[in-house]
Amino acid sequence: MLNYSKIGSFFSKLSQVLLGKRMIIAKSQKDLDRMREVGELIAEVRESLRGMVEIGITSMELNAVADKMIRSLGATPTFIGYHGFPYAICASVNDQIVHGFSNDIPLKNGDIISLDMAATYNGFVGDTAFTAPVGEITDELKQLIRVTEECLELAIEQCYPNKRVGDIGWAIQSHAEKYGYGIVRDYTGHGIGRAMHEAPQIANYGRAGTREKIRAGYCFAIEPMLNLGTHETRTLEDKWTVVTLDGKPSAHAEHSLAITADGPEILTLTKEQKAALKNSKKETVAA
Ligand code: MG
Repeated sequence: MLNYSKIGSFFSKLSQVLLGKRMIIAKSQKDLDRMREVGELIAEVRESLRGMVEIGITSMELNAVADKMIRSLGATPTFIGYHGFPYAICASVNDQIVHGFSNDIPLKNGDIISLDMAATYNGFVGDTAFTAPVGEITDELKQLIRVTEECLELAIEQCYPNKRVGDIGWAIQSHAEKYGYGIVRDYTGHGIGRAMHEAPQIANYGRAGTREKIRAGYCFAIEPMLNLGTHETRTLEDKWTVVTLDGKPSAHAEHSLAITADGPEILTLTKEQKAALKNSKKETVAA
């Protein structure tokens, strides 16, 4: 029998080898300014979509809004045409992990939906994702979403110069395993810049102190994907939609960030979120 997860991990290893041979591109100050611009732009789109997720809406409607908004801001939806992908967003419901196709099925109470989106603006890419509840969801699903977001935060906290890419994977793995979640291995985070996928590949598992050294000027898209059950995946007949092998739900969270001399700077935040972060830092200093 065809073992999808084995094929998946074969490609994962192959791309790791290929990406491993590619240089990690450190960004100039001018490049970083552009990464900030596109990051803020796609964050505005993300928050608009977050506000729209409700019982009865379809992923096709969400896709249309994202497509229109990205273009109205003068940017291009990066996903459209990426190896033939047909939509502006990846919309993955319940057991769908990533790369889900938009469709006309209304979301129903108790669903969870992962929305992943990217824009290209002035030659640079911003990439972000989140999982949202539809109506009232179970405590089990609330925890899955919360822990996925916590894993992202813990991963970002590793992003200081002279730390290593393996520290990021370790931070995610060690937190997710406390809850017994399956950590998706077949799909990973990545470097980001002029291209959506640059080196290095950033696995959501790993050993502290291993892999490439993190340096100021690097930009990463970190994106833990956690499953309520097995980490194993399979791809549907559409050749894109990735689902959990056991049919249990999956959650996803992603930010693009830059590594500065002072540590991580999250690029995919809205103006409001950046202001709130600044204020909370001021309060911490004052305390
Ligand atoms: Mg990504």
